[in-house]
Amino acid sequence: MNRKDKSYPFLRTKPLLSGFLLWILCQSVSLGQRIRDCAFAPLYQQQVLKLKNAATSRQAFEDTIQAYLRQNPNRGGRTGSAIIRIPVVVHVIHNNADSLRIGGRGNSNLSVEQIESQIRVLNEDYRRKEGTNGYNNNPVGADMEIEFYLANRDPQGNATTGIIRRYRNKAIYSITDVDLEDISAISYWPSDRYLNIWVLPDISSYLGYGQFPASASVPGLSSYFQDFPHTDGVFVACQYVGTTGNIADQTYALGRTITHEVGHWLGLIHTWGDDYCGTDYCADTPPTESANNEAICKEKYSTCISGKTTRNMIENFLDYSPDACMNVFTQDQKNRVRAILELSPRRRLLVTNTNLLEETETLQLKIYSNPVQSRTLYFDATYQGLHSVAYQLTNVQGHVLFSSQASNQPSGSYFIPLNQLPAGSYLLTFSTDSEQTSRRIIIP
Ligand SMILES: [Zn+2]
Repeated sequence: MNRKDKSYPFLRTKPLLSGFLLWILCQSVSLGQRIRDCAFAPLYQQQVLKLKNAATSRQAFEDTIQAYLRQNPNRGGRTGSAIIRIPVVVHVIHNNADSLRIGGRGNSNLSVEQIESQIRVLNEDYRRKEGTNGYNNNPVGADMEIEFYLANRDPQGNATTGIIRRYRNKAIYSITDVDLEDISAISYWPSDRYLNIWVLPDISSYLGYGQFPASASVPGLSSYFQDFPHTDGVFVACQYVGTTGNIADQTYALGRTITHEVGHWLGLIHTWGDDYCGTDYCADTPPTESANNEAICKEKYSTCISGKTTRNMIENFLDYSPDACMNVFTQDQKNRVRAILELSPRRRLLVTNTNLLEETETLQLKIYSNPVQSRTLYFDATYQGLHSVAYQLTNVQGHVLFSSQASNQPSGSYFIPLNQLPAGSYLLTFSTDSEQTSRRIIIP
């Protein structure tokens, strides 16, 4: 049962209730009784209906994926074994007229801390990280080898926190493809360079939505979803973001709504294939009759195979289980995603566009022209993995002239505006969680 089933019949049959009573009831429904329902299947149907040859195109895309997997059984190719890092832009579309108030209970203008907690969960789940909720010891469980970080450059190359905040006087969005376009018109970064995550005050009926990858590389067929680049991302109601802050419902308080929707964005399908005993094209997720839309973790079984009862993989991120039940992506899901990152045009571009700097064993700074030649100091910082980073420029007296920091960052390029700083000697210091290094900078 979803929120729609719960509230709409009631509103129809009790038309004389006062507005206040309705408000109380709606609060209790939205706070306590919503069961995971994502808009992937209905939105997918809506968008498919608009496209000529869409069904054929989709089947051709599946055929292409399967052919690729047969030819690359050990997921060969460019995206085979390397860790893929994806820059994320979070568009916070909030309805708090006091835009300066950020964070706090009931505030859709979420805190940085809450957004960062979601990025942490994505990295735990997509790396099957030991010692976290994302770890599993399932024999078919996989480390997806995908990492996410808040973008440090905007589309124009300027420094950014990766968080955009926009006010709109609207408390609830009903997700249809028209609404998605409207939301994207408020704020959007190119979907072949970033994972766009739109955070909304609330969504009618659903927790979230993730758009399926385009398949324009399938020869001879009209593109599938090629026409929807502006809505190519993830949409989520704000109270299901991360693990701290404005969290309304303990059933979905571990950040798995976005883990699930990003799974769709990477091309994964629900474990029941959105049909009775349907397919998700992954052999190592057991056949499943239907969604596990329960509010508590409990075993569930299917009889999709004649004469045989199989246990549903309720731990899979692509089921509808409560957040606390989920901790598994499988090896076949990983293989499927790797194939899609090769075959889907925008995903392929995104991987190519954003995995440029080679890591170094230890923290290294590469300064572009020192003494500096322009009014901007450019440098690359390279190291192993993702780190919280901080960097600053100080003068000989030790006064901090510029400082910045960011969490969960891969090796990357940075710049510091030098403005009207006088000629002289300065110190650039860059730190990660575990290392720090400094370089003397000369302004001639
Ligand atoms: Zn879903």
